[in-house]
Amino acid sequence: MNSLASLDVAGKRVFLRCDLNVPLSNGAITDDGRIRASLPTIKNLLERGASIVIGAHLGRPKGEIKPELSLAPVAKRLEELLGQTVDFISNNGAAVTLLENLRFTAAETSKDDAERGAFAKELATLADLYVGDGFGAVHRKHASVYDLASLLSNAPGFLIQAEVEVLKKLTQSPERPYGVILGGAKVSDKIGVISNLLSKVDVMAIGGGMVFTFLAAKGKEIGSSLVETDLIPTVKEIIETAALKGVTLVLPTDIVIAPEFKESATPTVVPVDQMPSDQMGLDIGPDSGAAFADAIKKCKTVFWNGPMGVFEFANFAHGTQVVAQALTEVEGISVVGGGDSAAAVRALGFKDSDFGYISTGGGASLEYLEGKVLPGLAALGL
Ligand code: AMP
Repeated sequence: MNSLASLDVAGKRVFLRCDLNVPLSNGAITDDGRIRASLPTIKNLLERGASIVIGAHLGRPKGEIKPELSLAPVAKRLEELLGQTVDFISNNGAAVTLLENLRFTAAETSKDDAERGAFAKELATLADLYVGDGFGAVHRKHASVYDLASLLSNAPGFLIQAEVEVLKKLTQSPERPYGVILGGAKVSDKIGVISNLLSKVDVMAIGGGMVFTFLAAKGKEIGSSLVETDLIPTVKEIIETAALKGVTLVLPTDIVIAPEFKESATPTVVPVDQMPSDQMGLDIGPDSGAAFADAIKKCKTVFWNGPMGVFEFANFAHGTQVVAQALTEVEGISVVGGGDSAAAVRALGFKDSDFGYISTGGGASLEYLEGKVLPGLAALGL
């Protein structure tokens, strides 16, 4: 495996793939964690006399130029954090250049190898060397993540190296009990990882919007909560498999409901069997929070991805807060996986240092835990 330290970068131009996919609200960055996480590699390259062209993406523009997904605000923030000029499509000769959102070009994410390859060749003309550090995108077979790496001498950056080191600890004989807590909006995003992790973990706790598909599969009234009806049969199988494998499946016993999806909606706590048909579940209830926290604290290895409720609304943030707090009290390894989960714990007032490790990549870390080959890591020999 190549390492960044052994790559001779002095006087060279390095294409650095970063993950700068930060959350934005009205054009302002609400959490700059991914930019900060990219700094060690950028600074190291600059200190060693390289010039850098950074490639990154923001959101899912699907091959179209969408001004609201421009990396311009990221260039500005990067400039502030680095304390030096960042050239953003202005060709001002700075040592650091940030390209515009690579996903404005359809070929970046194309399923067609030739199309992606051609774009990678274009990108390769911009640099002498390639450093891959965009962990949040390594599960994607994209031109700048996968194809470009094979066209230039390459090495993983410090962030990717750190991420892989932590995830290895979770996959190679994790200390038990090993618990995984999953939340967030959609079951469909996580069905693969749930099925796969059932043969690896001792405890699986499920909250967030996705839990209502589980509750529906158990025949419960879920009112107007989020649900993916087509996945109910699959979820039934998951529940059966968990029982067969002796995995403790922790589901909420009470729910915080509201008549509408609104910050100002009045919250009410109901037992899971008493959801009215005209309300929706927006958080796990306090009894569930306590049970989830208890299950987490008994584990020696914990991985958490996805909020337990609509944490963006103060009245529905309690479940996520309690789970985050429990993670900080784990005696063992606790990993918060994912840019959104990381942003959630920071928004709730936790510090990065409260946790064992905060991964910058949700999808990527989940796929790593599933045991999948991740194209962006394979391309770097990892
Ligand atoms: P994901 O991107 O799948 O991790 O989902 C994160 C989003 O799920 C957050 O923006 C939460 O507000 C949302 N979420 C969590 N719980 C619920 C819920 N019960 N109903 C609707 N949305 C939820």
